[in-house]
Amino acid sequence: MKPFDIVIVGGGGAGLYAAMEAMKTNPSLNIAVLSKVYPNRSHTSAAQGGANAALGNKAKDDTVEMHIFDTIKGSDYLADQDAVDVLCSEAPKIIRELDNIGTPWSRMDDNTIAQRPFGGAGRPRCCYCADKTGHTILQTLYEQCLKKGVYFFNEYFALSLSVNGSRMRGLLAMNIKTGKVEAFPAKTVIFATGGYAKMYWNRSSNAAGNTGDGQAIAFRAGIPLKDMEFVQFHPTGLRKSGLLVTEGARGEGGYLTNRDGERFMARYAKEKMELGPRDLVARSIETEILEGRGFDSPAGKYIHLDLTHLGADLIKSRLPQIREMSMQFEGVDPIDEPIPVRPTAHYSMGGIDTDNFGRTVMGGVYAAGECGCVSVHGANRLGGNSLLDILVFGRIAGHTAAEEAGKFAPGAIPESEIRERTEELRSYMKPSGHYERYGALREELGQTLAVNVGIFREASLLKKGIEEIAGLKDRYQHVRVFDTSDVYNTNLIQVLELKNMLDLAESVAAGAYAREESRGSHTRVDFPVRDDEKWHRHTMATLMDGKVVLGEKPVIMGRYELQERTY
Ligand SMILES: Cc1cc2nc3c(=O)[nH]c(=O)nc-3n(C[C@H](O)[C@H](O)[C@H](O)COP(=O)(O)OP(=O)(O)OC[C@H]3O[C@@H](n4cnc5c(N)ncnc54)[C@H](O)[C@@H]3O)c2cc1C
Repeated sequence: MKPFDIVIVGGGGAGLYAAMEAMKTNPSLNIAVLSKVYPNRSHTSAAQGGANAALGNKAKDDTVEMHIFDTIKGSDYLADQDAVDVLCSEAPKIIRELDNIGTPWSRMDDNTIAQRPFGGAGRPRCCYCADKTGHTILQTLYEQCLKKGVYFFNEYFALSLSVNGSRMRGLLAMNIKTGKVEAFPAKTVIFATGGYAKMYWNRSSNAAGNTGDGQAIAFRAGIPLKDMEFVQFHPTGLRKSGLLVTEGARGEGGYLTNRDGERFMARYAKEKMELGPRDLVARSIETEILEGRGFDSPAGKYIHLDLTHLGADLIKSRLPQIREMSMQFEGVDPIDEPIPVRPTAHYSMGGIDTDNFGRTVMGGVYAAGECGCVSVHGANRLGGNSLLDILVFGRIAGHTAAEEAGKFAPGAIPESEIRERTEELRSYMKPSGHYERYGALREELGQTLAVNVGIFREASLLKKGIEEIAGLKDRYQHVRVFDTSDVYNTNLIQVLELKNMLDLAESVAAGAYAREESRGSHTRVDFPVRDDEKWHRHTMATLMDGKVVLGEKPVIMGRYELQERTY
């Protein structure tokens, strides 16, 4: 294959914005987007609530500075303040740019872009398209990329980077339709493969494919990951499936109530109530359940998200998807009855370490979106800041790669590398006396993470989690794929995704064990206080000889000093 100037791995919001911007920066470039699912099916399409920008349409006194402060406070002061400046300053421009290219934002009566309140935000600044925001953004971007001549390789599964010494020369991927390994020689590669919260299995709001593939590929190529222990649990997943009920439901005025009919958030966040930040609201719900004030059912314990007082008109016009999901997956119409909910693993704050331009430590390799960590979310992401992150930093990474592609000579990927990858894939199908099955390992990984590396953490549990993950990695050596066909071998894909999740799970658990403090989403019951002196720093994880080695990096401060975080 002819070398590409830029190969982008991932067709979600970050990948497509990067592709569109790179084309705009230099229309003569040869740009490919690889995606294991059709781009429109990327997890971005599931984003319901919206994207933050201080437009000042709903609250005239909103400012970019307030958005910056809310984000830094929300991050429990772990975000890098220079990166947050970029995120929030670019926000109004990027929302308007999307408006100009066709994203159908919901409108207010005066026809300006509508904004709703979201958790941890001092003003209503979340811009939305009913409760289908991600879907509409993704459609807009895909259309633009097709128009601009981006090459799409849909249903390709990225396997590894090709690196010679310290020089990156492209990517190897499997064509899912044929099972063949193909080489993509490239001057630059941008990872935009989304998050890893699906490793928590059945209590996750994430798409099946959010298995952290890009992070794992980069990790194995020696690129460090940052702040992996910070996994966000969204307060309101549907009781049975963990599917998400957007924070927009509380933004529109929904209440959280316990078995006694009490709006219990008054106990935990007197001022912000249900619109406290996610880490706080998720912990509050779990505490209510643990202390016996939740509801019980064969499908598990839960509390109520009550929208009944909002009225049928509002629910139908602003939260149509939530109503549909509640009816289909819980048999409850939120117009008449409260929705049964419980926290669900939702978002990865950690990811591939990048600078503010999307660069990693390896020349020619960039990352953006949920798979990257700039870091703008620190220890806890605010709702509405992730769509913003993928747009702003997707655009920046695309621009940087387009500007810098000329610096890197196109590499040639040797045939031997294609043969090695092909052999590796075939080795899963070789008969073996003792073998392990994918399903059991996958189930056990989800369980151990949920129990030992969940919302409330402590040393003995984390140690157990680390041991169990190591045990699963050993057993993985014997995993076998019984479907030996080349065409759409989904079992093989699952097994490859499991390898990625196991590598990342190890870094999540190791970081959580090492960090002896509570900050944002990381709650250590044995170290309940934030310890700025020892732990106000990023965790860096590097893979050396197959082992996770932890290091650190300072947090970049700015105008805002460390403060106690209350809501
Ligand atoms: C249910 C839900 C609702 C959300 N709602 C909101 C919201 O209202 N507001 C907000 O700000 N944030 C929200 N978020 C978070 C936000 O949507 C995501 O963080 C964001 O969309 C991630 O975008 P991305 O482009 O980084 O990755 P994704 O959209 O996840 O895309 C990843 C891409 O990478 C590709 N890929 C992955 N692995 C491989 C591989 N091995 N080979 C080839 N391709 C690969 C996939 O095919 C896909 O195209 C929500 C998240 C969820 C799960």
